[in-house]
Amino acid sequence: MSHTIMDHVDVAIVGSGILGLAHALAAVKRGLRVAVFERSTAPMGASIRNFGMSLVTGQPPGIMLELAQQTRAAWLDLAPRANFSAREAGSLLFARSDAEHAVLEEFIADRAEQHGYDAMLLEGEQLAALYDGRFRHHRSALRGSQDLQLYSREAIPALVRYLQAQGVQFHFNALVKEAGDGRISSTAGEFRAEHTVVCAGHDYQTLFADRLGPMNLQVCRLQMLRAAAVEYFPLTHALMTGLSLPHYGAFADLPATAAVRAEIEAKTPALNRHGIHLLVSPTPYQEFVIGDSHHYGADAEPFNNEEVDQLLIGLAEDTLGVRLKVLERWQGVYGNKGPGPISLLAIDAHTTAVLLHTGIGMSVGLGLGERIIAAQVNGIALPDAIAGTSQSLLVPLSVPK
Ligand SMILES: Cc1cc2nc3c(=O)[nH]c(=O)nc-3n(C[C@H](O)[C@H](O)[C@H](O)COP(=O)(O)OP(=O)(O)OC[C@H]3O[C@@H](n4cnc5c(N)ncnc54)[C@H](O)[C@@H]3O)c2cc1C
Repeated sequence: MSHTIMDHVDVAIVGSGILGLAHALAAVKRGLRVAVFERSTAPMGASIRNFGMSLVTGQPPGIMLELAQQTRAAWLDLAPRANFSAREAGSLLFARSDAEHAVLEEFIADRAEQHGYDAMLLEGEQLAALYDGRFRHHRSALRGSQDLQLYSREAIPALVRYLQAQGVQFHFNALVKEAGDGRISSTAGEFRAEHTVVCAGHDYQTLFADRLGPMNLQVCRLQMLRAAAVEYFPLTHALMTGLSLPHYGAFADLPATAAVRAEIEAKTPALNRHGIHLLVSPTPYQEFVIGDSHHYGADAEPFNNEEVDQLLIGLAEDTLGVRLKVLERWQGVYGNKGPGPISLLAIDAHTTAVLLHTGIGMSVGLGLGERIIAAQVNGIALPDAIAGTSQSLLVPLSVPK
C-alpha cells in the first residue's frame, strides 16, 4: 500500500464518526480511492460517546428496521476482521408495571411477527431464570435477540485502523473549511475528489450553513455515566425499561403506549422534565454505560445537572438490583429535530451531505452508508425516506474497472 498523500481521490469524506466511516467502508470495498477528513486528532463526536447499542428491536417497521438489520449484519461481519467486541446477547426491556407490560404484549401480538422482529416476552419462570432471578422484581421482559452491544470508544478507533489497512487515507487535525464542485479546502491543504460526502454530525455552522440554517435543526444533549457494580455482576445484555417505550419507533405509536406516557407523567414527572429513559450497556470490562437524559436546543448547554445523574443512578440501581460506583461522567450531543430521521442533501453535482436527526447512528449508520454509496455507484434510486428531494440530483460514481 502506498503512503503518499493522494491529493485527488474518488471519494472524500468529511467527518470520522460512524456515518463518515460507513461511507468510507462502502466506497473502499468497491475499489474506490477514499480520503477521510477529521478536524479532531481522533473521532471525538457522538459516535464514541454513545451506548454502543446497535438496536434492531427499537426501530419502527419499514426502512429504519431494514437499515438496522443491514447494520447489524455489517457489525457482525466487521467485528472479527477489525478486532472489536460486538456482543450478540441481545437486549432486555423490562416492564415495571401493568401498563408497560400491556405495550409489550401488544408489540408481540400485533407487530413482532408481522414485521420480522426477533423478540420474545419473558414472564414468570422465564423471567426468574435470567441471571439467577436478579430481575424477578420486574413485571416482564422483552428479549430482543437481534440487538448487538458494541463498545464505541474501542469499536470506532478499531474501524479507523481497519479502514487505514484497506487503503483509506485519514487526515486528522484537518478541518474542512469549504467543500464543493470536487474541491476540498482544509487546514491540511487543498484536495480534489470526484465526490465528497459530508458527515459532519451536528456541526451546522462550518459547512453549508446557508443550506442548513433554514432547516432549523436542533441538537440533543445527553448526560452519561460509566459505573461499576459494587458486587460482581457479569451482565451481557443491553438493558432498557418501559421508560423507553414512548421514545422508540417500534412501540411509540402502539395504542397501549398512551397509558405508559400518562403513568410516567403521573408518577415520575422529573423523568419527563429531563427526558430521562434508562439505558444500561455492559462494557467488555464488567462495567456499565448508563444514561440518558434529553435536553434540546439550538446549542448544547455545558452544565451537567447533578439531579439528572442521581435520577439515573437510582433508576439503574433499582433495575439492576446492585449498588453502583460511578467511574466517569460525560455528555454527548447529537443532531435532532429535522424533517425526518435522515437528510441527504445534494449540495452540487459532486457533493452530498448526510445528516441524522435522531440518536440512531450506531443502529442504522453502516446500512445507510452502504445504501448511499451503492446507489451512487450503481446509478439506482434510493428510497424516498433516505433521499427525499435530492434523488434526481445524485450523480453516479464510477468504479475502477
Ligand atoms: C450520548 C449518546 C448516546 C447514544 N447512544 C446511541 C446508541 O446506543 N445507539 C445508536 O444507534 N445511536 C446512539 N446515539 C446516536 C449516535 O451516536 C449518532 O447518531 C451518531 O454517532 C452520529 O454519527 P455522525 O457520524 O453523524 O456524527 P459524529 O460521530 O458526531 O461525527 C461527526 C464528525 O465530523 C467531524 N467534523 C464536523 N465538521 C467537520 C469539518 N468541517 N471538518 C472536519 N471534520 C468535521 C466532527 O469532529 C466529528 O468527529 C447516541 C448519541 C449520543 C450523543
